[in-house]
Amino acid sequence: MSKKVLVLGEAREGALRNVSYEAIAAAKTISGGGEVVSVLLGDSVKDLAGELVKFGADRVITVEHPHLKQYTSDGYGQAILAVIEQESPEAIVFGHTALGKDLSPKIASKLQIGLVSDVTSIEGEGDDAVYIRPIYSGKAFEKVKVKNGIQFITIRPNNIAPLVKDDSKTGDVTSLSVDITSLRTIIKEVVRKSSEGVDLSEAKVVIAGGRGVKSEEGFKPLQELANVLGGAVGASRGACDADYCDYSLQIGQTGKVVTPDLYIAAGISGAIQHLAGMSNSKIIVAINKDPEANIFKVADYGIVGDLFEVIPMLTEEFKKLKVNA
Ligand SMILES: Cc1cc2nc3c(=O)[nH]c(=O)nc-3n(C[C@H](O)[C@H](O)[C@H](O)COP(=O)(O)OP(=O)(O)OC[C@H]3O[C@@H](n4cnc5c(N)ncnc54)[C@H](O)[C@@H]3O)c2cc1C
Repeated sequence: MSKKVLVLGEAREGALRNVSYEAIAAAKTISGGGEVVSVLLGDSVKDLAGELVKFGADRVITVEHPHLKQYTSDGYGQAILAVIEQESPEAIVFGHTALGKDLSPKIASKLQIGLVSDVTSIEGEGDDAVYIRPIYSGKAFEKVKVKNGIQFITIRPNNIAPLVKDDSKTGDVTSLSVDITSLRTIIKEVVRKSSEGVDLSEAKVVIAGGRGVKSEEGFKPLQELANVLGGAVGASRGACDADYCDYSLQIGQTGKVVTPDLYIAAGISGAIQHLAGMSNSKIIVAINKDPEANIFKVADYGIVGDLFEVIPMLTEEFKKLKVNA
């Protein structure tokens, strides 16, 4: 049976996040030929709706309100529940982002439905959809089938490929007026620690440094390589604990989970808690002085050497390739 699937789009500072398009692709699979309805919440988001249609949404519903400018679970919760009540979807897809992780259990509990979180791929489609999600910090995968009720899933960013953009595609964009009331919290201001560069959780290339980087200064060659490759810098908890970099860069079980096309681990030993955050990356390159380092067990390419020699060499070679491309 084909389904109507509701997808929550995410925008930050006036731009849609990639996970919005990935969620539409997941929704298409789940819908089994049914309808994919994207939802955008914010204070001024209507102009972004067209992009969601071009990436596969059949129509878009926007809810605009000054209280939706910044995410709060109260505000977004009220808005999305109003859309769900209007649309009665058979399935719902959120990104497994900071926002999605916070909001999805609250919505599931309000609706008294189950939640399949952190889905990395989907087998089958429509009623036959089976959701695959990593468990035990990525050491095993679980296959989940929802037998009845609304299918509610969150998808891990960078795992499900977006559909090819179709600039000629059109679809209805409507707005729903929701009276956002009784907020228990109001965000006055968001002060970003690092506002520049590529968003680590969505980066296609991540250059991560560990305790082997030895100092804050030691991260500079990694940043240079990231700049050349259009990527983001990440870190192990070892590097964060040693105060070489900010905790917002931490990747792993208690940090961010990333799945870039290319992950370069420099001076990282490969503790299980670190692997939990990066082992699903498509290509892993490890640079470590110790040939026995655990990181080489998950690496597609291993370089035994000093990162302070290897990283600048890579940067120079990539620069040459870019000039000659
Ligand atoms: C509950 C819990 C949660 C945790 N969560 C996380 C998490 O989310 N993320 C995380 O990363 N860790 C996490 N940890 C910590 C984890 O167990 C490790 O301690 C940590 O990942 C080690 O960081 P590291 O690899 O940078 O440091 P180390 O283990 O000290 O490794 C440094 C590596 O650098 C290499 N090296 C040194 N100098 C050079 C050089 N010049 N060139 C090349 N290589 C060099 C060394 O050979 C070594 O392999 C957690 C631990 C616990 C208990």
